[in-house]
Amino acid sequence: MAKLHDVIIIGSGPAGYTAAIYAARANLSVLMLQGYQVGGQLMLTSDVENYPGFEEGILGPPMMEKFEAQARRFGTELIPEDVISVDFSKRPFKVITDSGEYEARAIIISTGASAKWLGLPSEQRLQGRGVSACATCDGFFFKKKDVAVIGGGDTAMEEATFLTRYANHVTVIHRRDTLRASKIMQDRAFKNPKISFIWDTEVTEVLGENELTGLRLHNVKTDEESILPVQGFFLAIGHKPNTDLFKGILDMDKVGYIIPVEHTMTNIPGVFAAGDVTDHRYRQAVTAAGDGCRAAIDAERWLESLGED
Ligand code: NAP
Repeated sequence: MAKLHDVIIIGSGPAGYTAAIYAARANLSVLMLQGYQVGGQLMLTSDVENYPGFEEGILGPPMMEKFEAQARRFGTELIPEDVISVDFSKRPFKVITDSGEYEARAIIISTGASAKWLGLPSEQRLQGRGVSACATCDGFFFKKKDVAVIGGGDTAMEEATFLTRYANHVTVIHRRDTLRASKIMQDRAFKNPKISFIWDTEVTEVLGENELTGLRLHNVKTDEESILPVQGFFLAIGHKPNTDLFKGILDMDKVGYIIPVEHTMTNIPGVFAAGDVTDHRYRQAVTAAGDGCRAAIDAERWLESLGED
């Protein structure tokens, strides 16, 4: 029979680890199913300069190692596997992974969000051969090359700025003529002599047989078509919540973000959600961590209210 945990946490970003630290310190038995991509989106991030406590900044991956070490220190059990299915129809709740079935009295979902793609067939074909959604992971491969970044948000500015460490030139392609990114990130990109901008423009095709050679562009104001020769293309057009597993089970908005009904508790009592999986507004490591803390406290109080041993 599966061992019964007090809390199973699904997902290993800042929300999940913070929930684990709080729940384990409250003397609950905690299992975290981390997913095969342990550490979440911060594993794909370069410098994190806005997480309090790291005055010099810290790289995403070592930051997540610290989160994990802190969760381990208080006795969290960690399994680096994806969840395949869940049964929240009765308690104890069941969670299935490749290695087996796990049971818990309460669940905290912190599966985060993933980068969005344009959905062009050519983009998928050349993924890993010039097309990437992670400059931090792949920027190194574009030394002295010309690359493009699509998007007008903070991620696009961050990726473009990061890529100038390696690339010869970075072109940011944006579908409007104003950026969504914060002023400080915009200014940093505008001041960088290696970055230029193409406004009011969409990418309609990713060109190249076996490796990327360029992008077909369409100006939405003039209807003009053009080709931008580049060897690298980085997507930075936002994220979608990782909630497919919970469709039809948990209340979600039309995009798929989980809607908590009471503090961090979902429509199923005993199932809580925290971090980017519920948040399309802030999406910061520090807000996700704060949310993980709230979910652990809510789970602990809810378990206590049941009066079970
Ligand atoms: P975002 O703010 O949602 O921006 C997405 C950008 O992609 C927008 O400019 C959008 O254009 C564009 N876009 C969306 N779909 C598109 C499509 N199909 N084709 C072309 N362009 C498309 O996403 P984000 O930049 O990933 O940022 C998400 C959150 O994380 C934000 O709250 C941001 O502040 C935060 N963040 C912070 C930092 C930092 O502070 N270090 C770094 C990264 C992210 P429109 O503008 O026209 O909608």
